Amino acid sequence: MNIKRRTVQFQANTRNFFFHILTQCNLRCRHCYINPEQHGSQILDERTLAGWLAIFAGNHQITKSPNNTNVIFLGGEPTLSPALPQAIREARRLGYASITVDTNGYLFNDILDRVFPEELDYFSFSLDGSHPEVNDFIRGKGVFDTCTSGIRRALERGFGVSLIFTASSMNIHDLVNMPSLLTELGVKRFFIQVIGIRGKPARKGETSLQLSREEWEAVVPEVAGKAAEKGVHVTYPKVFLKPDEPFACAGLVADNYFVFPNGRVYTCPLCEDYPIHSMEIVDGVLKERPPIRECDLFSLQIPEGCVLNKILHPGNISYDSDGRPTSRIACCMLKEEVLPAER
Ligand code: SF4
Ligand code: SF4
Repeated sequence: MNIKRRTVQFQANTRNFFFHILTQCNLRCRHCYINPEQHGSQILDERTLAGWLAIFAGNHQITKSPNNTNVIFLGGEPTLSPALPQAIREARRLGYASITVDTNGYLFNDILDRVFPEELDYFSFSLDGSHPEVNDFIRGKGVFDTCTSGIRRALERGFGVSLIFTASSMNIHDLVNMPSLLTELGVKRFFIQVIGIRGKPARKGETSLQLSREEWEAVVPEVAGKAAEKGVHVTYPKVFLKPDEPFACAGLVADNYFVFPNGRVYTCPLCEDYPIHSMEIVDGVLKERPPIRECDLFSLQIPEGCVLNKILHPGNISYDSDGRPTSRIACCMLKEEVLPAER
């Protein structure tokens, strides 16, 4: 099967609302970035979920004006919230262009029985290995079997299903085995994430989870190609820009909101562990915050590319003997897509 590769540029008229509806989770994954100290531990109730969905559904004086808004419900584990089915319905009613639920596969509160396939676009399952030895070392004992059984049940019921693999030094060797598993399960959309040194790993100083540029480039594009040859649509972060590729900061040119249960609203995911959010929701109202905020840094132009990467993860950047960066770091929201050419 022929495949196509392309960089997905930011779309000016599309808004993405990453809605963390709680921070609670039944698992304790080794790379978990959830940070209740910064993001709160409240579980948003039905009324609050509806109010916040309404804020990002339409035009707002301090957000941009999109034609389409996509919502991604996340946590913690969002299916732990009994209010999730109602929130999904409310998002549909408000006209969201697509609705996705990211899940660890435990599918709490009988979620597959409480929503219908036509009410949401995707359940996106997180699985970090092609077999229990790899996945369960990272995500916990028994998680591989529970998650793959959840995937099978969701597919049997007619739900859209995608799979997210978070690549780190713990599982990069196993990524090559994922295309076969995707085929066996019948999953047609695959997201490869690269681990960021934030949240729990950063606090513990577990920098060894990070991949080197060589490891990333040697494995990820090739595996993505193999999966696409099997009919799977693959997306992964670009990470490094070639000399002729333009740099753009999503915080300036895109319309993304990362919202947490304590009301913090970020426009850059790299900033989520720091109290420099651009906006916050207070008593149901979205408000801008005073400087210094993440958005005060986006327009700083540096030869290294992403300014927040330079501040927070300078170890990602290498320099030549003249002190020039050997390549620029792309915005972490810039993605590469590899897909079957017939599509
Ligand atoms: S499933 Fe997600 S939220 Fe839960 S521990 Fe794992 S990474 Fe963290
Ligand atoms: S990751 Fe970097 S380039 Fe992307 S939004 Fe954040 S600061 Fe901007």
